[in-house]
Amino acid sequence: MQLVIEEKLKELEKNYKNKNLSYWKDWKWQLKNSIKTISAFERLLNIKFTHEEREELEKITSTFPLSITPYYLSLIDPDDYKHDPIFLQAFPSINESMVGNHDMEDPLYEDKDSPVPGITHRYPDRVLFHISNVCAMYCRHCTRKRKVGDVSSIPNKEELKKGIDYIRNTPQIRDVLLSGGDALLLSDENLDWILTEIQKISHVEVIRIGSRVPVVLPYRITGDLVNMLKKHHPIWINTHFNHPRELTEDSKEALRKLADAGIPLGNQSVLLAGINDCPEIIKKLCQQLVKNRVRPYYLYQCDLSEGLAHFRTPVSKGIEIMERLIGHTSGFAVPRYVIDAPGGGGKIPVMPNYFISFAPNKVILRNYEGIITSYKEPDSYKNHDCIKGCEDCKLMMKTYEADKYKAIGIEKLLLDSVDTISLIPQNNNRLQRREDNDED
Ligand SMILES: *Cc1c(COP(=O)(O)O)cnc(C)c1O
Ligand code: SF4
Repeated sequence: MQLVIEEKLKELEKNYKNKNLSYWKDWKWQLKNSIKTISAFERLLNIKFTHEEREELEKITSTFPLSITPYYLSLIDPDDYKHDPIFLQAFPSINESMVGNHDMEDPLYEDKDSPVPGITHRYPDRVLFHISNVCAMYCRHCTRKRKVGDVSSIPNKEELKKGIDYIRNTPQIRDVLLSGGDALLLSDENLDWILTEIQKISHVEVIRIGSRVPVVLPYRITGDLVNMLKKHHPIWINTHFNHPRELTEDSKEALRKLADAGIPLGNQSVLLAGINDCPEIIKKLCQQLVKNRVRPYYLYQCDLSEGLAHFRTPVSKGIEIMERLIGHTSGFAVPRYVIDAPGGGGKIPVMPNYFISFAPNKVILRNYEGIITSYKEPDSYKNHDCIKGCEDCKLMMKTYEADKYKAIGIEKLLLDSVDTISLIPQNNNRLQRREDNDED
């Protein structure tokens, strides 16, 4: 695989005439040399469109910009580009100009749920913070299609400060999701500044970064970047692989660097007609992801954004895929299939049915093989009437005060429930001698 890719790279390099191969892994070179026109695409892949086709495609790219890194382009199989999952995600289709009755500019109401520019506050304890409007590659299936690539709306420092202020002034936010555009297209310095500012806020417990660079521009994951990110733990990263072909040696290397820096990695795929709407492709993708320490997180039903109709599958396709994953492969290789509710209701999980029937003390279930089974519920069970009065509840739900309840020192010896019989100071000579004797 590596060889094939390298050969292709060299082939492409020849087309890039004067460009030196040593630049290939420089992410800034990749961005600077991104392919943005239909004609450059044709030249590099030896494709010829008719005059009408080219005109139509150019019209589309004036609304939804085209941009693809040389790296991502090099993964396309020129001999069968029409079916190539990389090509189909990167190159415009004339179908994009078709806007259906139910299509919307902002189907998830990200703007309506926005208290200040750049922030979408939908769920009680977490926010989405758009810190960039640019991406290394403009995915044709992007739900924020109308926004990304609009260079005039790249958030400036003042706007970012307003977003950070909102987070600071909203104590229920404990999870901040940095997204875009692509959050990792900011410079190390700017990202470091944002992470530092957010981390100063005491109620923020975790920061997540959403980025497609491990897929489309793996060279962005530099040693400097991961060293900077490492300073800001707990940092989680979610990336966006859609097809096993995207897991190249270079993207695996990027994932390795991130995972080695102690960053838990997740993946969000979009179910796309003609690209990955197949249980075997998704299974292979998920298995390859966990092999590279990435946990499949979400499989999204394609949104109702304008110009995406040709990518949408029926929901039943997603259910069929989940049916063929659950039980058939490792539980942690199975993503959650979700529909992001049009109108801003958030992500709604959908699943095959495993419940078959109920009786007051029995549940009838079926498993992934079709075995029908019954689970006997307890004959007596005393329910806790939960009115969220945790202060008076018998269950130890006061987790926020757990430290107070931890037995300390002599108290430990007094409690019947703890079987500690002695408290031993550090570096006790007698016990050290015992350990030494044991070793002999
Ligand atoms: C997806 C999303 C989140 C994060 O949701 P999780 O289910 O916690 O991953 C937060 N805010 C918005 C607006 C989102 O779309
Ligand atoms: S990387 Fe994400 S935000 Fe950017 S174009 Fe792709 S899907 Fe959209």
